[in-house]
Amino acid sequence: MIIPLLKGLRLTLSRFFSRPITIQYPEEKRTPPPRWRGMHYFRADDAGNTTCVACGLCVAVCPSRCISLEIGEREDGQRYPRHYEIDELRCIFCGYCQEACPVNAIKLGSGYEYVKYDRSDFILTTEKLLAMYEGKE
Ligand code: SF4
Ligand code: SF4
Repeated sequence: MIIPLLKGLRLTLSRFFSRPITIQYPEEKRTPPPRWRGMHYFRADDAGNTTCVACGLCVAVCPSRCISLEIGEREDGQRYPRHYEIDELRCIFCGYCQEACPVNAIKLGSGYEYVKYDRSDFILTTEKLLAMYEGKE
């Protein structure tokens, strides 16, 4: 009878004197785990352009149908995304787009603060996706 009581008391005391689990958010921020899937970004080449070759695999694999792509073709015959857009409000952050991309162009970042005043801010165009590349990798 007394043993379970002492065990419970020991657990209570160990928690009482250990470091608090809570943090003072937003002043303090947690580093998400390495496999965290947050807001998307586009990887950029040396010239600052997206490395996307407009193959359409991410569009085909996306279960939420939240990626739209308009394919363009350069003079040398190379394809590029004339218009690329992800609706982050419909995204379920499954990561399939990242896995399917043959050139590692579309990535899911470490951001986890999804608070904006305007719904249109969640529509990520090529420019916004490239801007979110800064400081990564
Ligand atoms: S993470 Fe999943 S749902 Fe979101 S855009 Fe990529 S494939 Fe679509
Ligand atoms: S982001 Fe990757 S998978 Fe999607 S169209 Fe561009 S190259 Fe293809």
